[in-house]
Amino acid sequence: MMPNLSGRVKMPEQPPEIRARNFQEVPFGLTEELALREASRCLNCKNPLCRTGCPVAVKIPEFIQLIKQERYAAAARKIKETNALPAVCGRVCPQEVQCESKCVLGIKGEPVAIGYLERFCADYEREMGLTEIPEPAPPTGKKVAVIGSGPSGLTVAGDLIKLGHEVHIFEALHKPGGVLTYGIPEFRLPKKIVQAEVDNLIKQGVRLELDSVIGMVRTVDELIEEDGFDAVYIGVGAGLPTFMNIPGENLNNIYSANEYLTRANLMKAYMFPEYATPVERGKHVVVIGGGNVAMDSVRTALRLGAETSTIVYRRAREQLPARAEEVHHAEQEGVLFNLLTNPVRFIGDENGCVKGMECIKMELGEPDSSGRRKPVPISGSEFIIECDMVIVSIGTGANPVIFSSLEGVERNRWGYIIVNEETNETTKRNVYAGGDIVTGSATVIQAMGAGRIAAKAIHEKLQAMDRKK
Ligand code: FAD
Ligand code: SF4
Repeated sequence: MMPNLSGRVKMPEQPPEIRARNFQEVPFGLTEELALREASRCLNCKNPLCRTGCPVAVKIPEFIQLIKQERYAAAARKIKETNALPAVCGRVCPQEVQCESKCVLGIKGEPVAIGYLERFCADYEREMGLTEIPEPAPPTGKKVAVIGSGPSGLTVAGDLIKLGHEVHIFEALHKPGGVLTYGIPEFRLPKKIVQAEVDNLIKQGVRLELDSVIGMVRTVDELIEEDGFDAVYIGVGAGLPTFMNIPGENLNNIYSANEYLTRANLMKAYMFPEYATPVERGKHVVVIGGGNVAMDSVRTALRLGAETSTIVYRRAREQLPARAEEVHHAEQEGVLFNLLTNPVRFIGDENGCVKGMECIKMELGEPDSSGRRKPVPISGSEFIIECDMVIVSIGTGANPVIFSSLEGVERNRWGYIIVNEETNETTKRNVYAGGDIVTGSATVIQAMGAGRIAAKAIHEKLQAMDRKK
């Protein structure tokens, strides 16, 4: 097939005015014809720079070559050699700063749409029922507890079950998937995709124990000493909300993004009254923050009927940390952006509900420790945004419950677990950790990468135990 050097294909998607009021997935995915056209743009470089931009080094040119040969399920399997969740990553990875930012075609034009192609072949494999369940290895007699069923815990479970270990996942919530289930909305990541991945693990023999908050129902020490687990992996994420700490923050209708999205996604408040979960439906909603969580919140508020849904972010547009595609989609859907703006206080009405937010305009000063230009308030520029609901999305901290009974696992000054970077073992023997609980809020692929490192180290440790015996 001759390389197609014309422009990158466009992903078909719901029109903005329609999708802004429903929870169905926004992009439809590539058709086979579009996938073949996009794959034909890849030059199959001898030294594929795209791979260096991928945190788990997916074999990108190799899987794209398989698409060119119309071997789509084989392409999905090629990706799975290093990335267990391609249907998820094809949808939520920030490709524009990872693989696609390194693609040679991006130097003079547009990079290959690697994320679109990843999604295409993973969806094909699942929808055609071609997902292969690996043959289990002979049982090793070793037992591993995985705490948390987010992308990092799922990766550890998937890697270890294949090697013959008995794996139990303990999940605090009533549904598995971590942020993929309770945080990222249906219109960006349909829950059936996450569930299909979990079902595959269960078919392979992974035991999933829901509603099991480790630190409350059992402690890590009890898992090891009483329940006979040989190793424990902690992948509990970083979902503890943080607030602005400014006057008026206790007013009614000021939510943390975490609570708001959990009600809407995990507890299906958008399907009320079919689902009994209540959630406030503001008419004029303000979301404070500029990351993926803020974009998910502001777009959820629109879909729940807001007349205006506004992002308030203290830096400039080019510094928004959210995926470029989410910002673009939010703009198309009519989300308003109040950039270089910082809240100062919340204003309440006679019923104790928020009715406005006083803000101050900011300008960019000298670079700070992160290398980004620091936003500095412009004195005298205060103004009021009227609103009846506020969602605070300025970052999260370590999930704390597990630590109430966890001795010997050292943490850094932010409360995240300290690990040996080569193995992801903590300072407690045979206890490993990875994902957001180690790095702070990061990305799905980083959490999965950490899980993979730990799974390899756990397997080696368990084999060594056998040799010692
Ligand atoms: P999590 O996904 O947080 O999973 C941790 C799990 O552990 C949870 O299910 C939790 O209930 C469980 N748990 C906690 N405590 C206990 C306990 N004591 N006992 C048992 N279980 C426990 N990243 C991207 O790459 N792209 C995106 O577009 C993107 N969008 C995002 C949108 C939102 C709204 C949010 C919140 C995050 C987003 N992220 C995105 C970040 C990404 O989802 C996280 O980095 C990733 O999910 C971290 O994975 P994890 O496995 O470490 O933890
Ligand atoms: Fe294909 Fe771009 Fe990777 Fe080269 S750098 S192999 S063109 S995706």
